[in-house]
Amino acid sequence: MTAVSEKGNWSSGVSVVIPVFNEEDNLEELVSRCLKICDGTEKPFEIILVDDGSTDRSPEKIIEAARLNKGKVIGILLNRNYGQHSALMAGFAESRGEIVVTLDADLQNPPEEIPELLHKMEEGFDVVGSVRTNRADSLFRKASSSMINIAVRKSTGVMMHDYGCMLRAYRRHIVEAMLNCRERITFIPILANTFAGSATEVEVSHEKRCHGDSKYSLWKLINLQFDLLTSMTTFPLRLLSVLGVIISLLGMGFGVFLLLMRLIYGPQWAAEGVFTLFAILFIFIGAQFIGMGLLGEYIGRIHQNVRGNPRYFVDRVVGKGI
Ligand code: UDP
Ligand code: MG
Repeated sequence: MTAVSEKGNWSSGVSVVIPVFNEEDNLEELVSRCLKICDGTEKPFEIILVDDGSTDRSPEKIIEAARLNKGKVIGILLNRNYGQHSALMAGFAESRGEIVVTLDADLQNPPEEIPELLHKMEEGFDVVGSVRTNRADSLFRKASSSMINIAVRKSTGVMMHDYGCMLRAYRRHIVEAMLNCRERITFIPILANTFAGSATEVEVSHEKRCHGDSKYSLWKLINLQFDLLTSMTTFPLRLLSVLGVIISLLGMGFGVFLLLMRLIYGPQWAAEGVFTLFAILFIFIGAQFIGMGLLGEYIGRIHQNVRGNPRYFVDRVVGKGI
């Protein structure tokens, strides 16, 4: 936790962290709109633009914006593309604000909604997420994200309706908790919710992308879904064991059924023993699944340990002498 003290007391400050990947056409508008909004909040603020290895003129534009708005705009340039969430982490590591707001650079979420988030944070929430009211995305995206929402709700126990929307606000201690996580594949909104004591959502509008294309191709989206599922839960592994037990039980039931029918109708009925072989086969297939499931249980445990996430974070300790 040295980071906080190094950064001094910025107790009412707001940091806006924005990952940027090939967004040269959006940057000017983004920066000017963010500056206008942040100036209006009358709180100390910083806008942190993290260039995630862009190959267009985004880095130059970020450097220029930082030069023109000294102390208000900070640029962080990563040496290559690490992905949106790693870029956000890099921004978090530099941020000082008691409240950290994340935002996409493509202006799909209007920065004008930031005061609304801050207002909600004043009620004392750890995390304020946002729900897109008029979501301007394809049907596939909507369907896949609602699937993920259900899975996340089950595994983190925090009810949120929209994890895809990056316009979110986090309190400092949640950001520090996330920075202490060593796992490489992270999805910030979900990670934050595993530490959030209280979380809520506000409704925000959602626009079509201003310039450029989405950085997530269909393949990248599918990968993301798998990453999310396996990073959140080892439930699919346990499913193997359950499936194994079911197949084995069915196999045994089938065996008993065959035996009875054989006794009643004679050897002709069971095709001279071929059916019995099937029953035995089912039992063995089931046993194999159980074996795989057991292996999976151990792998799951290794997976949890390798993630190495801290088990808990203490909010404060009271009644202890200095
Ligand atoms: N982004 C990034 N690194 C990447 C991909 C995306 O920093 O590898 C940034 C991108 O510049 C944008 C945000 O993450 O600010 C969200 O990306 P995008 O708008 O393409 O995602 P979508 O809105 O289509 O889900
Ligand atoms: Mg977008």
